[in-house]
Amino acid sequence: TTHAPLADLTDDELTAFLQDQQGAYDRLRAAGLKLDLTRGKPSPEQLDLSDALLELPTTTKDRAGTDVRNYGGLEGLPELREIFAELLSTSPAQVIVGGNSSLSMMQATIVNFLLHGGIDSPRRWADEENVRFICPIPGYDRHFSLVGSFGIEMVTVDMRPDGPDMAAVESLVRDDPSVKGIWIVPTYSNPTGAVVSQEIAARLAAMPTAAPDFTIFWDNAYAFHHLTDDEAKSADILSLAAASGHPNRAIAFASTSKITYAGSGVAVLAASEATIAWYLKHLSMASIGPDKVNQLRHVQFFGTAQGVRDHMARHRDILAPKFAAVDAALTDELAGRGIAEWSRPTGGYFVNLDVLDGTASRVVALAKEAGIGLTPAGASFPHGHDPRDRNIRLAPSFPELDEVRTAMAGVATCVALAAGEQVAARRGLRV
Ligand code: PMP
Repeated sequence: TTHAPLADLTDDELTAFLQDQQGAYDRLRAAGLKLDLTRGKPSPEQLDLSDALLELPTTTKDRAGTDVRNYGGLEGLPELREIFAELLSTSPAQVIVGGNSSLSMMQATIVNFLLHGGIDSPRRWADEENVRFICPIPGYDRHFSLVGSFGIEMVTVDMRPDGPDMAAVESLVRDDPSVKGIWIVPTYSNPTGAVVSQEIAARLAAMPTAAPDFTIFWDNAYAFHHLTDDEAKSADILSLAAASGHPNRAIAFASTSKITYAGSGVAVLAASEATIAWYLKHLSMASIGPDKVNQLRHVQFFGTAQGVRDHMARHRDILAPKFAAVDAALTDELAGRGIAEWSRPTGGYFVNLDVLDGTASRVVALAKEAGIGLTPAGASFPHGHDPRDRNIRLAPSFPELDEVRTAMAGVATCVALAAGEQVAARRGLRV
């Protein structure tokens, strides 16, 4: 079903529409829901897929005979580095496996740039007058708060379906040596589901930058998290950068937070061998070695890179119906009204919902009143500020399928009500 555009309704029709939506909203509120679409967490059913981990590892030695219970092996277990090297199309020497959080590795990397400088840095970032990062928007809130916490200035560019607005990126980096980095979630981005094209990856790798230590933070958190048969293949940014004469420009990150256990997975950093050595040198001040017992149980659980891919298919079986339910609820209520657009991601954890400008905060507040928790409006922007107040990130992974249906029907009602209120107010209608 497609509805008529709200803008085309007569005043009487708009008044009737608004009364309908108000009625639907009153019923929604009376239902006393308690549902949460706020964060991209795996559901208990997804976590159960990895419960074999609780019986692993079955030995205390890795392939080389090293006792995993002891100190050492800062770079991670060789066999796990091999699995991730294959998955990320790089070599094991360019991969290190750490603890449970890739975000920690990103923070450590930035701290090292700030306090020590990178391989190609003329000086420590802390000694720069100004450090700026390019932040494609909408993007991942924790990327923004991480650099914001160090006083790094965030410069936004638009995120498009095939990657960041490259004309804007290229002009920012060309003349301004204070532009030191860019956040990129290359595959099934948080929150739009965009996939960075080969062409844009090649431009990022090759573009001239005023800062010799300009760094691409290539956060491939959703590299293997397909929702359809149309499986995106991540661009090989490390090879592209090396081939363009900038071997240290890109640092890639990934983790099994949404593969095995979100709180007890393993995280990965991949980069040039020189960057790996740089990172390990600084890491050796903080750790004598990672949790190799956890690494070994992951090796035994996956077996091979193909084991990871097979495991992801089981996640897809659980997740795909939830994403379909989001689309169905939004389509039912909103298609054709001209008051909302949303993504139909082919992977990842989020649906990006853009509502009428100026109504996103109202939608989130209405939903909250009705017991439906949504990520705060503006969360996907630096400092939590969406200049158009229109963007809402939906995270349907955690609730059960029925709950996603119920919650999303409610969200659609809130979107329609907020839009009706705004259009009516613009026309000066008293409803
Ligand atoms: N990067 C992105 C883009 C994410 O969406 C998330 C989780 N929401 C993370 C990183 C966090 O990764 P980790 O659990 O490995 O710290």
